[in-house]
Amino acid sequence: MAEIEHRPSNFIRTIIDKDLASGKHTSTYTRFPPEPNGYLHIGHAKSICLNFGIAQDYQGKCNLRFDDTNPEKEDIDFVNSIQEDVKWLGFQWDGDIQYSSNYFDKLYGYAVELITKGLAYVCFLTPEQAREYRGTLTEPGKNSPYRDTSVEENLALFAKMKEGGFKEGECVLRAKIDMASSFMVLRDPIIYRIRFAHHHQTGDKWCIYPMYDFTHCISDALEGITHSLCTLEFQDNRRLYDWVLDNISIDCHPQQIEFSRLNLEYTLMSKRKLQSLVEDKHVDGWDDPRMPTIAGLRRRGYPASSLREFSKRIGITKQENMVEMGMLEACVREDLNESAGRAMAVLNPVKVVIENYPADQVEMLTAANHPNKEEMGHRELPFTQTLFIEADDFKVEANKQFKRLVLGKEVRLRNAYVIKAERIEQDEQGNITTIFCSYDPETLGKNPADGRKVKGVIHWVSASHGINAEVRLYDRLFNVPNPATAEDYATVINPSSLVIVKNAVLEPSLALAAKEQSYQFERTGYFCRDNKSDELVFNQTVGLRDTWENN
Ligand code: ATP
Ligand code: MG
Repeated sequence: MAEIEHRPSNFIRTIIDKDLASGKHTSTYTRFPPEPNGYLHIGHAKSICLNFGIAQDYQGKCNLRFDDTNPEKEDIDFVNSIQEDVKWLGFQWDGDIQYSSNYFDKLYGYAVELITKGLAYVCFLTPEQAREYRGTLTEPGKNSPYRDTSVEENLALFAKMKEGGFKEGECVLRAKIDMASSFMVLRDPIIYRIRFAHHHQTGDKWCIYPMYDFTHCISDALEGITHSLCTLEFQDNRRLYDWVLDNISIDCHPQQIEFSRLNLEYTLMSKRKLQSLVEDKHVDGWDDPRMPTIAGLRRRGYPASSLREFSKRIGITKQENMVEMGMLEACVREDLNESAGRAMAVLNPVKVVIENYPADQVEMLTAANHPNKEEMGHRELPFTQTLFIEADDFKVEANKQFKRLVLGKEVRLRNAYVIKAERIEQDEQGNITTIFCSYDPETLGKNPADGRKVKGVIHWVSASHGINAEVRLYDRLFNVPNPATAEDYATVINPSSLVIVKNAVLEPSLALAAKEQSYQFERTGYFCRDNKSDELVFNQTVGLRDTWENN
């Protein structure tokens, strides 16, 4: 067999290699099984890259399956967004989308099979009683008084559950396993419960819904999955996964393998908590650029390739860990450094008037879109007498460390001329309103002829040709590295995670930016045009340098 080495290997690929070498399997079949109860987050991206990546590298198959057994929490909007996100990440599922709910009839049949074999029973204990009977980690549980009901009676009771003959919560179907097992999940787990709820796929057909542990293994087996990859919290549930498949008439028995979840600093990774951020209006929807959702990161300007690279770098292990934000940002910075066109944008403008430049002249300068990618082409930059530069790029007095514009000194305007600050005009409060400069006409694309050294370079935009835009600057959403451990996450939200700059001035070529197009605003950071707003709005993706280490 040819060696397959497209990605860094990991313990799961080692298992797969062995299974293929031994002939246990002739190909791989994996699946990504989200519950459609929220938008996908970057943790899901890890799982998507793992499952679909295996299919790509081993020429196997990968299903997208909605694990849709909780109708009250699910929504068709989530079903749609999840498909969109998987495709955007660059993956395509095999054949049709799968739904666990497609198997409701079969699942019902397998439940009947377990009852017939004396391995499942309808139980009428109240939730409080059931908790009491379950025992604890140190004490065995007690058998339910309904455990010994006859097969015939159980069949009739389960049929009655299905027909709507009982109220919600009145009874459940439980697997008959072992109330003394050291694995709590094996203490007669519930496999069906009553919910009079409308389902986004099956409508009102069902009022009983199968539990995750019963549904998941059977869905995997029905689809012929070879390796069922899930996160570590399902380690114990593997006993139940195997028990169900061992006790029903099904020939396929996928191997469940667990790996550690992605945890990322300064953010949350649970759909339930992310949903409350949305509901409590701490963010502007699931795709708010501050959210760790795939839709949010996309809107923030993360290319899909940067998320795939990130998931490659974090790798797949069984170790629980917390990944630093700097690692994610390094991936996007490296990606955009290669792919993003350069542009000039002034976020906090102050006016510069070049007094020896003709007032009515407009000179079209050319600038490369990328410093070392000729194929990315050029753009025109109109140069005029009145310009804007960043207010921060000027000081009346400064030491040598300040390599920008200082009164009486020279600086180079990026892609243009060398200018010298001659005098300033201030308002009554002492704010600088205009910096009057002179320029050296002999310095376009060359150093001053007399050998004067001009070290600093600053960016600028023509005042008459620049365009106005809103620029949104983002910071971490939480003030603490692990907000999941905060008693009330609302208390650790960063109140200045979004700063809206209304009066940014951009070079005119940016008027043509497509939605989601990324740029490096030179000397400022990476930005992308917002994919929602029809106005010209840019979202900051990331700064040019890693600022996390200093935090
Ligand atoms: P959440 O707690 O965020 O709702 P979940 O595990 O309940 O996550 P599912 O929709 O059930 O979400 O997950 C679909 C798949 O994605 C599962 O196989 C799950 O193990 C995986 N997954 C979810 N969160 C992460 C994560 N943080 N890191 C890696 N994989 C994850
Ligand atoms: Mg879940």
